[in-house]
Amino acid sequence: MGSRTVVVGASVGGTKTVQALRSQGYAGELLVVEAEPHLPYDKPPLSKGYLTGTLGRDRLNLVSDAEIKDLAVGVKLGVRAKSLDVAANELALEDGERIAFDNLIVASGVRARPSPWQAKDGVHLLRTLDDAEMLKKNLQNSRSVVVVGGGFIGAEVAAAARHFGLDVSIVDPLEVPIGRVLGDPVGKLFTRLHHLNDVATHFGNGVEAITGTKGNLTVELTDGKLLSCDLVVVGIGAVPNTEWLASSGLLIENGLVCDEYCRADGQANIFGVGDVARWYHPRQRELVRVEHWTNAVEQAACVAHNITNPKDLTRYAPVPYVWSDQYDWKIQIAGETARASDYVVVEDPSNENRFAAVYADHSGLFCGVATVNWPRAMIQCRRLLDSENAISIPLNLLNDLLPGRPG
Ligand SMILES: Cc1cc2nc3c(=O)[nH]c(=O)nc-3n(C[C@H](O)[C@H](O)[C@H](O)COP(=O)(O)OP(=O)(O)OC[C@H]3O[C@@H](n4cnc5c(N)ncnc54)[C@H](O)[C@@H]3O)c2cc1C
Repeated sequence: MGSRTVVVGASVGGTKTVQALRSQGYAGELLVVEAEPHLPYDKPPLSKGYLTGTLGRDRLNLVSDAEIKDLAVGVKLGVRAKSLDVAANELALEDGERIAFDNLIVASGVRARPSPWQAKDGVHLLRTLDDAEMLKKNLQNSRSVVVVGGGFIGAEVAAAARHFGLDVSIVDPLEVPIGRVLGDPVGKLFTRLHHLNDVATHFGNGVEAITGTKGNLTVELTDGKLLSCDLVVVGIGAVPNTEWLASSGLLIENGLVCDEYCRADGQANIFGVGDVARWYHPRQRELVRVEHWTNAVEQAACVAHNITNPKDLTRYAPVPYVWSDQYDWKIQIAGETARASDYVVVEDPSNENRFAAVYADHSGLFCGVATVNWPRAMIQCRRLLDSENAISIPLNLLNDLLPGRPG
């Protein structure tokens, strides 16, 4: 009998694993189980073009019906994995079906952290297509919104709401929310960007309560200030979807704990992919969990390799990469900017909306880069993160890219 690989979760992690398995020659049976009723779709546009309406539904599809046929993959939509029997290699679904497998891919991702503040209605989260649909409809019919959480998703929702002409405020307990990732001085440039786009920021201020109902909500801040609005969007992080693994005996600690080959701890045939996987990163020498699109894609390729080449396993040691679109800024971040000890900002004197921040670790080695509206700088610097380089190397490279320089 041939082998069967079952994938739980049909978002980018699960879908890319199926595609990578087939392109790497996996000839066994493939089955995907997905809780949502929709065919695989992509999430990054949900807080960007899809929310503003500039990108249609057809642009979200991760695969077409024809590709699903070509991949010869069975897809079970609208049914949730309920539990896992590791000893029997058997997955139980909520509809009562039990599915035997040879390999299991855990790609169940994360969900939006629920709002701890309950109003009657008008408080939104944003994770799924259905969330985005509902939010878009309500943004179009509202005059004002308070966004709780100044991270990437909060900032993108604020920008989308300005696109519809709403009065927008953002609240975050941190003084400089993006400073967590890029350091406070660079993070303050992002706060300035909100102000330039007429968004009020209440940073260094938490939420005490949200009361009222859609169209007439009040957000009470910890300093006693009251913000009135029609809608609230809460973007305060995400929670791994691991409840279905609770009785499996697998190690669950802020995600599914995996080794450097992305195998669930102690298991040769169960793998974690994407936002749900917390794996041992060989270069960082610790367990990490990354909620970025590119990580799900790269981890899928590594897992497909490790399933199809069990005698030639590859360790998964990616350089992190994420992008975000906020107002007219295209932001790209690579490497470990959050761990840096030092950084240098390189500005393009011909364009005030274009700059790069280059980060160094405690030994002065280049460890990360953030660019705004400068994709060429990102492409060139990102390559240097694969090996050890003094920070002077990307800095020279960026200076050469500035107008009036050769090259
Ligand atoms: C609004 C938004 C904007 C984003 N923008 C960016 C961006 O600009 N750049 C970037 O790098 N990243 C961005 N991301 C993050 C990126 O989309 C995620 O990293 C990516 O979706 C992770 O994919 P995944 O397959 O690991 O998990 P998920 O996308 O979370 O998918 C997991 C899937 O598993 C399913 N599932 C869960 N539990 C079960 C179960 N028990 N049984 C069956 N199915 C189950 C879920 O329904 C879901 O479809 C954004 C995310 C969101 C929500």
